[in-house]
Amino acid sequence: MKTSTITKTNPVSKFYCNIFGHQYDVSKLVTKHVKEYTCKCCKKQLTTNGNGRLTELTPKFQEINSILEYIHTKRKSRVEQKMYTTTAA
Ligand SMILES: [Zn+2]
Repeated sequence: MKTSTITKTNPVSKFYCNIFGHQYDVSKLVTKHVKEYTCKCCKKQLTTNGNGRLTELTPKFQEINSILEYIHTKRKSRVEQKMYTTTAA
């Protein structure tokens, strides 16, 4: 009897990562200091936490990052606005 299971991640890739380590690539720039990384091999995701260390990208961290990104872009636009008003005055 044959059983077919659909798996998202390739078990061979996971095996490879366990031996040779993950091949992380920056997948998202949240702020200047916070980035999200994805393993090219097994698609495991990491992020920079508050201590500047790498940690697994859990749904909780995804939420934190989206808030950080929002604040970061908001602050950036405010600085630009300030620059415009000072140059205009
Ligand atoms: Zn990996």
